[in-house]
Formats: sequence, structure tokens, C-alpha cells
Amino acid sequence: MSERLGPPLGAPLFDRLALIGIGLIGSSIARAARRKNVARVIAIADESTQARDRAVALELGDEVVADAGDAAAGADLVILCVPVGADEAVARAIAPQLKAGAIVSDVGSVKGAVIAAVGPHLPRGVALVPAHPVAGTEQSGPDAGFATLFVNRWCILTPAAGVDAAAVAKVRAFWEALGSNVETMNAAHHDLVLAITSHVPHLIAYNIVGTASDLEETTRSEVIKFSAGGFRDFTRIAASDPTMWRDVFLNNKQAVLEALGRFSEDLTALQRMIRYGDGEGLFALFARTRAIRRGIVEMGQETAAPDFGRPHDEDGDGGS
Ligand code: NAP
Repeated sequence: MSERLGPPLGAPLFDRLALIGIGLIGSSIARAARRKNVARVIAIADESTQARDRAVALELGDEVVADAGDAAAGADLVILCVPVGADEAVARAIAPQLKAGAIVSDVGSVKGAVIAAVGPHLPRGVALVPAHPVAGTEQSGPDAGFATLFVNRWCILTPAAGVDAAAVAKVRAFWEALGSNVETMNAAHHDLVLAITSHVPHLIAYNIVGTASDLEETTRSEVIKFSAGGFRDFTRIAASDPTMWRDVFLNNKQAVLEALGRFSEDLTALQRMIRYGDGEGLFALFARTRAIRRGIVEMGQETAAPDFGRPHDEDGDGGS
């Protein structure tokens, strides 16, 4: 798996880049954009004083302000890096400051609802090119970001039909410069695919960890003690940012409910296999799922090292 960002561009793609929200994703973009010389000036806005202070201390941009409109003023590319539920308020705040020909983009994990929330506020002559970098960690805030987060990861663009092709090409070039592989699809399709590959898995993790924490005190301490049996891998996902994930579920309701319906049906089928001793059925499913993992590793989206590449000493630490 390559983690190299590559050399800086000769000339910046954008004169002024504005990042609204300087958490995990915004700060990773800032770091990568700086290293790659993607923009001459990086302006940052965040409503959190703490995040702004960290952005200054970490030297993430050339300007760090509280007001999103101030950062967006005169920008060629404005990227909304806030939780999806905050996108509409940010769009309202930046709209009067946007210059003609500016491009507005975002990094939200949901696309249909974001387009509906942001699009109507943008003035004519401003192109909306939504993007979703399919990369992240369970951490948040400016300190959690790193420049190579997007290297060899997919970034999905979901421009509506008729959006200026030159603007779409510039956003594509931006993400490619940050090391991403870029794909374009419509927003509804994105939301359905991500519901099954990301949103429902997060919900399952939140649910299993929640169930464990509801257990009686003695059992709960054993859950933590013996977590290497599989539970701890769910806890990583279930440690993800509560605001971000609340907003994802509230804004991708239809696709998540559709994917959850299928999941519940398949879970019932599994329950029946266990109840009626259908070992052949269980084995066939588990063999199929193992092949999916192999496919992900082969596509360079995961390490081939066992146990997610966790270090193990000579004696080994047990595990499953
Ligand atoms: P994060 O680390 O929590 O950072 C978000 C930042 O935005 C925080 O500093 C937050 O301040 C600030 N903010 C919230 N509302 C704002 C507003 N109205 N105006 C200005 N700043 C505001 O979040 P993140 O993980 O970077 O996620 C940002 C976006 O990326 C989300 O839309 C998410 O769906 C998407 N995304 C995340 C991941 C991931 O793995 N984390 C992956 C792909 C895409 P406060 O702390 O005060 O709220």
C-alpha cells in the first residue's frame, strides 16, 4: 500500500482555497494541499475557538478566522468540511461572499441531502461540485489530520447534470493531486452504495458496542477483558465522532433504511441456519465473505498483514 504523497505541483491549481471546518478532514486537506502546493493561499474558518487555536499552532493555513464568509471571500475553491447537518448554515453564510466563477465543494459522507441543502443558496455563476473522500479514521479535530490520508483512497464526485465541466475537472485534479483515485457518480447512487459499505457497518458497530455496555457490570468487564475476540474491532468504528454520524443517519435516511432492511432479512436467514444446524449454509457464506476481504486487500484498500497489522511480540498476545 503506497503512502507517498509525491512531489509538489509546479504551479498551484488554485489561487485561494478556503476550508470551512478544520477537523480531521479539513486539516488533512490543509496539510496535503500545502505539501503539494495546490493553492497559493489557504484560508481556514472554524466556529470552534479551540480548533482555530490548534490550526494556528499547527500552521495549517495562511489565514484562520471564525467567520466562514471571511474565509470564502475571493476564494476560487471553497470546501465545506463540517458535519453534514451544518452545511446549510455554512452555505447561507458564505453565499454573499462568493466571487463569480468560484467552485463550492464539500467532503460530506452523504451527497443527496447536502446538494439539496447547499445548492439553493449559491449564487448564479458558482459551480457546486460535491465530493466525498472515502478515507478517514475514528478520530476528530485538527490534530487528528495527516497529509497522506487520501493517498490511494477513493474520492467520489457527485456533480449534478449540467454543472460546468471545467469546474468538475478542477476538483478532480485537486483530489488527484492529494493522491486520491477519483470516480464520478450521481448522488443517489453514492448514498445507496455508501449506506451499505459505510453507514450500516457503523450502525452495526454502534449497536453491538451499545448492547455490550448495557450488560450487567460483571459481564461488561469481561467483554472489555476478552475484547480481542473480535469486539475491539467494532469499538474502533463505534468510537467515531457522534455529531458526524448522527448527521449521516439523519441525512441518508432512505438509503440506510433500505440497506438495513436487507441486513435484517439476511440476519434472520443466518439465525435460521444456526437454529436448524445448517453448517453447509454457514460455511458457504463465511467462505464468500472471506473472498471479499481478499478482494479489498488485492485492491490496495487494506493491509494484507494479519490482525490489521497490529504489532505482536514474539510470544504473541493471543487474539481470537
Ligand atoms: P471533525 O473532525 O469533527 O471537524 C469538524 C469541524 O467543523 C469541527 O472543528 C467543528 O467545530 C467545525 N464546525 C461544525 N459546525 C461548523 C460551522 N457551522 N461552521 C464552522 N465550523 C463548524 O469532523 P470530520 O471528521 O473532519 O468530518 C467533517 C466532514 O467530513 C463531515 O461532513 C463528514 O461526513 C465528512 N467525512 C468524514 C470522514 C471521517 O472519517 N471522519 C470521512 C469522510 C468524510 P466543533 O468541534 O465546535 O463542532
